[in-house]
Amino acid sequence: MSAQLIDGNALSASLRAGLAARAAALTERGVTPCLAVILVGEDPASSVYVRNKVAACEKAGVRSLKDVYPAEVDPAVVFARISELNADPDVHGILVQLPLPRRFDAEAVLEAIDPEKDVDGFHAENVGALMQGKPRFIPCTPYGVMEMLKSRGVTLKGAEAVIVGRSNIVGKPMAMLLLAAGCTVTVCHSQTRDLAFHTRRADILVAAVGRARMITGDMVKPGATVIDVGINRLPDGKLCGDVDFASASAVAGIITPVPGGVGPMTITMLLANTIEAAERRAGR
Ligand code: NDP
Repeated sequence: MSAQLIDGNALSASLRAGLAARAAALTERGVTPCLAVILVGEDPASSVYVRNKVAACEKAGVRSLKDVYPAEVDPAVVFARISELNADPDVHGILVQLPLPRRFDAEAVLEAIDPEKDVDGFHAENVGALMQGKPRFIPCTPYGVMEMLKSRGVTLKGAEAVIVGRSNIVGKPMAMLLLAAGCTVTVCHSQTRDLAFHTRRADILVAAVGRARMITGDMVKPGATVIDVGINRLPDGKLCGDVDFASASAVAGIITPVPGGVGPMTITMLLANTIEAAERRAGR
């Protein structure tokens, strides 16, 4: 391997220390930051994500509330709980863990969250604000990626950035952030004709697909910064990213691992958004 590694755990640890200090300062002023998490159904991956988010809150001095509903719950019950949390002045962030069971209108659920408490940044109002270059809350995964790039002083102005994946959660907001930072951005997806043609041009390559090791070393420009957002479970139970780490790390200049890369950063930025929301509420 010749690429330098961005260690998401180490970067998270240093950022979380600063966040814990901000949370403690708020608590001293009588405003303990609080995140409410809603989980519907028993999806094992979602349960793990929620558990990790709640544990991270606890360590950072952020209070958390967790509501878990069975998959067959009446959506009206979830909407009623969101209304209650919207109205509670002691709750600063509300997060509904995705994916929701198919019976749910996920968009309607996200729109029901008060945009001032939408710490995932998925509400249409917050998506629009990001698009206009005036974000209120930056979606946590792309926010974490931007912090990783910043930590290494990666040049963004004028850089060719290629994102593989166009989801509302990762690909699209990632494109908006890199565009705002001065990159020339290409977004690839399942209908892209010659994926490798695009990825080989990338100074910054972000993979957010959900297909194990699909980006191989021959698709990477020598010296590029490669950010692997993908989390895939292999038949042997191990996790791997969308990037074939062994071949890509021989070509890239900087690379993120899976696990221990973007994953911990996502949770860190959730804490950052929650504390930010509490600071706004407390009137900084
Ligand atoms: P989605 O399934 O919503 O989106 C996947 C995207 O990949 C789609 O835009 C799809 O294109 C595109 N795609 C699929 N196949 C190909 C292909 N062969 N070539 C090019 N593009 C393709 O996934 P998410 O964005 O939610 O997540 C992506 C990955 O990131 C997953 O592995 C997920 O687990 C992980 N993830 C990790 C997080 C973290 O904290 N590290 C947080 C969130 C997600 P199309 O739109 O045309 O269908």
